[in-house]
Formats: sequence, C-alpha cells, structure tokens
Amino acid sequence: MAIQSIRLFGDPVLTTKASPVEVFDKELRTLVSDLTETMKNAPGAGLAAPQIGVSLRVFVWDVDDQLGHLINPTLDLSDELQDGEEGCLSFPELRYETPRAMRVVAKGFNMHGEPITVEGTEFLARALQHETDHLNGILFIDRMSREIKEDLRPDLDALREETKLDEREVRC
Ligand code: ZN
Repeated sequence: MAIQSIRLFGDPVLTTKASPVEVFDKELRTLVSDLTETMKNAPGAGLAAPQIGVSLRVFVWDVDDQLGHLINPTLDLSDELQDGEEGCLSFPELRYETPRAMRVVAKGFNMHGEPITVEGTEFLARALQHETDHLNGILFIDRMSREIKEDLRPDLDALREETKLDEREVRC
C-alpha cells in the first residue's frame, strides 16, 4: 500500500474520460488499496483513480465510517435533488454549492470482479455522483451555475497556475 500524490485542477488526466477495467487482477487490488490509503491520508470522503493519475473507472469512498469501492459504475439517479456544499481533493480548500440527485443506485463490480449494487442517499449519493463524474472527466465546477463559476474564476486561475508550476518542478 502506498500513498500517492493527488492531481490538481489543471492536470489533463482530470478532464480525460477513463477506460473501463477489463482485468480484475492483483494490480487492480493494489490500485484500490492505494486509492483508499491516499483518500484516508488526505483526508477525503472519496477519491477516483484519475485523481492519482490512473485513467481507469475505479473509485473509493469513506462515508459515515463505511469504506467502499466501485469499478465500472453505472448510476441510476432520483429526480429529487439535494442542495449542499461540495469539495474536491483536486481543488484544495475550495467548497461550493453543487446540486445533486438525492438518491442513487450504483451498479458495478468489486475488485474481485463480482457484480455489486450500492444504494446511497444524501451524502453517499453525492459522493457516488461526484466520483463517477471524475471517471467521465467531469469536475464539480462543471455542475455549477455560470454565475457561481464566474465568481470562482480567480481561485480557479490561481490553482491552474499552481499546477503548471508543479509540473515544471517535476520535469526539472
Ligand atoms: Zn473530486
């Protein structure tokens, strides 16, 4: 198990659609355990593989003291919506009002390749939607109204600038 560095907004892996997992092997189990360790260390309520630079459809969560993971998820969303603030480990210290469905039924596989169904309401539903979005290259800022996004622009520009600096440091 190893804690990985979390990719920040501005990194292209975060806006790339991730590929489905096809082989449920030891490497996949290591990925799930690295994601879990990295999320707990952050700490965060969820983490998707692209956030540690792996473009595969895998994510983990830690909600109400329940750890979980899901591979190749598909979501069924309720029409009823919830309001609330949301954060993202790829946007440190930024939290914004983000509308989400109130209930989710998520289907996918566990790391052993067995089909599983996860039902979530409120915060778990929010986490499942946020993480599945990551697998499609969608970020929580994409779910906000144009007005809110306009207000955030200075914060986002600063973060994007910081990410570029980090990349330059890594290349040196
Ligand atoms: Zn996120």
